Amino acid sequence: HSPPEAQKRCLSVLSRFSGYHKKDHPLMALRFYNTLTQRVEEFAPLEGNTVRMYTCGPTVWNYAHVGNLRTFTFVDLLRRWLRYRGYRLDHVMNITDVDDRIIQQALAAGKTLTEYTEQYTQAFLEDCAALRLERPERLTPATEHIPAMVKLIAGLRAKGCTYDSEGSIYYRIASFPEYGKLSHTDFSGIRAGARVDTDRYDKADARDFALWKAPKPGEPFWESEIGPGRPGWHIECSAMAMHYLGETLDIHAGGIDLVFPHHENEIAQSEGLTGKPFARFWLHAEHLILESQTMSKSLGNFITLRGVLSQGYPPEAIRYLLASVPYRKRLNFTADNPKAAATAVERLRNFELRLKTEKFPEGASEWLQVRAEQARQRFEESMDDDLNTAEALAAVFEFVREANTAMDAGDFRSANVPPALDLLERFDRIFDVLRPSEHAGGLSDAAVEALIAERAQARARRDFARADQIRKQLAEQGIILEDTKGGTRWKRH
Ligand code: AMP
Ligand code: ZN
Repeated sequence: HSPPEAQKRCLSVLSRFSGYHKKDHPLMALRFYNTLTQRVEEFAPLEGNTVRMYTCGPTVWNYAHVGNLRTFTFVDLLRRWLRYRGYRLDHVMNITDVDDRIIQQALAAGKTLTEYTEQYTQAFLEDCAALRLERPERLTPATEHIPAMVKLIAGLRAKGCTYDSEGSIYYRIASFPEYGKLSHTDFSGIRAGARVDTDRYDKADARDFALWKAPKPGEPFWESEIGPGRPGWHIECSAMAMHYLGETLDIHAGGIDLVFPHHENEIAQSEGLTGKPFARFWLHAEHLILESQTMSKSLGNFITLRGVLSQGYPPEAIRYLLASVPYRKRLNFTADNPKAAATAVERLRNFELRLKTEKFPEGASEWLQVRAEQARQRFEESMDDDLNTAEALAAVFEFVREANTAMDAGDFRSANVPPALDLLERFDRIFDVLRPSEHAGGLSDAAVEALIAERAQARARRDFARADQIRKQLAEQGIILEDTKGGTRWKRH
């Protein structure tokens, strides 16, 4: 709408907001949807000003796909918004460097666990850096915390929450009557003593799960007071979270697929021992969807960040794309939306450039000052509202549109610049897309390997169009592929 209309509207909105104080309006406080209570709840840390937060990290058995990175981008936005609101963070994230899949892959590759996981840990850190994801205060591999896991399992054993079978130790879910409270499922009919040994399973397979797995020939294991073995996947998060953050966390977060069984099991393990709530707020990010299917490595429909970037998109555009859909909504990844995201980022950069370089007439247009203030308020209220990033962006873009129009009409004045820049600065503290990244010319070896892995998956699911596209894309970068019986070899032209 034109400036006069906007002006009218903003004055009436302003009168509603005048004399407004945050404290008197509990509705406007920071709040999150809590999976545990199935409600949107006001958030404040339990103790002082520090938020003690745990998020489940990557399983480094392969490259992260953009779906995984959507969840980690959500975690980054959460961190940044908590800090914007004046909180300090003590945030722990694990790196799962031992589980069923890693052991299988490492054995198949003839590598030790560490040799195998190192390359993917490195690739994950590179992806996070490209997406400007802040490093948690503690980012730490599971295998460095075996003693903490053993201690926790020994404690559960002493409390009678476990039983042994053939050298493995299982969690007896019947010992924890609240089992199912996070996923809101009634598991009371589950047959006592039925067990599940795999790390990943779904509700239909809900059973007593393995805390400590007996050694198998050729597999890595640790000697310990509870016998030789290796941890099941779920125990590491309970152990690491409580080791660093204490018995009750403020926030525990991860992707929606972790609600069951992973987080349900974390609750059982932690609360079974301490009798205290393990986490006050449980936040879960919805999935990124590709061609109406959840992006997943096991389904074989995955796209890596390296794959997208090698099509020429700047990483900031992907960051913007992953951040722009509120985390509790599914994000549909299409071939077009990186382009749309890149355009949106460009629009904001152009606006910033105009603000910084154009000469404007002296003075201030009062209505624009009001609009900048309203945009800031709407931006903040939207983020406070369970990180509604779509609304927050709408507030910024609406202002940018009006300000651009005002500039063209000569109605934007020099004193309108600082509030506009202030709005952009606040926006960028969270979204962090205005600064262009230096493009590292050419593809790294890791990027080439990731694309080859993606191509192999495409071929396996008979998506030859995609496989060909990847081969062409690599050829354009001077990478020649040679398919052999043992897999694909490559060299630089
Ligand atoms: P993983 O490496 O499998 O342990 O997963 C790392 C994170 O990515 C977890 O928080 C998962 O819940 C999350 N995740 C897995 N698939 C998707 C997806 N398609 N979209 C968003 N997040 C996902
Ligand atoms: Zn976890």
